[in-house]
Amino acid sequence: MGKIQVLDDHIANQIAAGEVVERPSSVVKELVENSVDAGSTRIEVTIEEGGLHVIRVSDNGNGMDAEDCQKAFFRHATSKITTGKDLFQIRTLGFRGEALPSIAAVAKVELVTSSQSSGLGYKSVIEGGSVRTFEETASSKGTDITVRELFFNTPARLKYMKTIQTELGHVSDYLYRMALAHPNIAFTLRHNGNTLLQTLGNGDLVGVIASIYGAASAKQMLQVEASHPDYELKGYISRPELTRSNRSAITLVVNGRYIRSYALNHAIANAYHTLLPINRHPIAVLHITMDPTLVDVNVHPSKLEVRFSKEQELIQLVESQIRKVLGRQTLIPQGAKPVKPAVVQEQLVLYRPEIKEVREEEEVNEVKVVEEKSEPTFSAPAKVREYQPSSSYSSYQPPARPPTPSPALNRTYMESAAPVVAEKKPELPAFPSLTPIGQMHGTYLLAQSDEGLYIIDQHAAHERINYEYYYEKFGDPARASQELLVPITMEFTPADAQFLSGQLPLFESAGVYMENFGGGTFIIRALPHWFPEGEEAAIVGEMADWVLDEKKGIDLAKLREKAAIMCSCKASIKANQSLSRPEMEVLLDRLSQAKIPYTCPHGRPIVISFSTYELEKMFKRVM
Ligand code: ADP
Ligand code: MG
Repeated sequence: MGKIQVLDDHIANQIAAGEVVERPSSVVKELVENSVDAGSTRIEVTIEEGGLHVIRVSDNGNGMDAEDCQKAFFRHATSKITTGKDLFQIRTLGFRGEALPSIAAVAKVELVTSSQSSGLGYKSVIEGGSVRTFEETASSKGTDITVRELFFNTPARLKYMKTIQTELGHVSDYLYRMALAHPNIAFTLRHNGNTLLQTLGNGDLVGVIASIYGAASAKQMLQVEASHPDYELKGYISRPELTRSNRSAITLVVNGRYIRSYALNHAIANAYHTLLPINRHPIAVLHITMDPTLVDVNVHPSKLEVRFSKEQELIQLVESQIRKVLGRQTLIPQGAKPVKPAVVQEQLVLYRPEIKEVREEEEVNEVKVVEEKSEPTFSAPAKVREYQPSSSYSSYQPPARPPTPSPALNRTYMESAAPVVAEKKPELPAFPSLTPIGQMHGTYLLAQSDEGLYIIDQHAAHERINYEYYYEKFGDPARASQELLVPITMEFTPADAQFLSGQLPLFESAGVYMENFGGGTFIIRALPHWFPEGEEAAIVGEMADWVLDEKKGIDLAKLREKAAIMCSCKASIKANQSLSRPEMEVLLDRLSQAKIPYTCPHGRPIVISFSTYELEKMFKRVM
């Protein structure tokens, strides 16, 4: 006799429960999704002890009649799809018919429901997978499900449960997402008698954002709205100065379903680009609506991940729209309100520490006025300095290369910075026309416009200007490459050298021509002539370090960007540099022509402002 048996429904449901009922929040999710699918406009979730003790979800949706109220607990019983074809055009959150039987297999469930407004309803109690009682009862229209002793049939699971706070965290996170996804539904979440979330259900998404992230954050949101033949995009994104340390405040909603998408998160990050500090993320709530045939939601048991059939178009739409919205704003944080420190300075690894020491001595001569030119200029350090060895290359021969006859940075910079940058300027808000007042601590410029007072971080401003210049330059570096009279040599460990040998074409695309000389030594033969003078070896060294660090994740676009940031940082004036008035004027003028004059390439703010009105308020000239 064969050994294979078909499992009975109860065991099958218990097995399925492993997937559906992972933790209290997964039960909340299934029940709330059912309430949404039932067309509810009010959904109340009440839990005790993080949901381990009691989970109750009540709604004012369509409810169930006597027959459905029992069938709902059968395996694969669903009212949401009938034929296989329906699977390809899912308009509801549920469709697998698994949730209720799975939950009932591992918990005590009490269901009260009514599909009519007569007041007549049904109550059913299910324990260990079987119906204990089924009776008529008084009930308003809608459904009220209480789940107790979740996991009481599978005690081993309790062991895996983390603390009540952790479970509560998952439940509330889920409800936040649902509330953000459905501003037309009034959600309530109560835990051990305390109300943790209450939304009005009046369709006002900003109101929901306020109830979750606070009113101050809600005020910092910018509206996104776009139509496309296949997609409709609506929602809000935060201004760049409002950031979070992780991506958890990004809520993506596709046809009413909260989903996770690495690709879309990436598109959002790309749109902010250098407007955000390193390792900071925006708050964003994006509702994407599309024909259900364009998205496959049946790729993941919890349906958190979906597959888009036109993903590239969607990514482009999201990225370009967010960029447009950000571009339209005047992104100068206001000084009078407490400006959240948009940056965690310690996270910026601009130079390795050993290099920093050398830099500090150099900084003295970094800003010069070139007398014979009609316009003052900010020059790159003229001094050639020794590059300090780092872990990746054990020794370095200081370049014996004679200084380039015409300092590359100054000349090219003076000639082309303005036109090149201005040409590609997107539809930006007008950057205020600023007149310098003076300089503070050799670090900040004070300036005024008709509207108020501005404080500008001179290094950040110069870095932004230089970054845009170099970023353009790295777009087509090969043509600018110039053979070095005296090649620069660099040394690496054998393993690093071997890896780098395979990356030479990448360096060449960034204009850096190197050759493996053997024994871990590389010779740099040619470089773009606009590399900041005296910093060539340091920059190639950092490019190599970066390539070695990233290993798998390198691509040319990122290398170019990194290299542009390195060049701009090295070529920029530093703090503690006094600037003459004409120098300040030039700096502000160039800043006003930058594509993004608001943040440096590392995402730090460049300008903060105090409006005249705010100043008058502070001095009590107006009330
Ligand atoms: P699915 O949601 O995948 O259809 P479920 O097991 O979650 O499967 O639910 C089974 C059926 O029970 C649903 O298709 C629906 O008809 C009914 N149902 C469940 N919850 C509710 C509710 N809150 N209001 C009305 N009907 C419900
Ligand atoms: Mg369901």
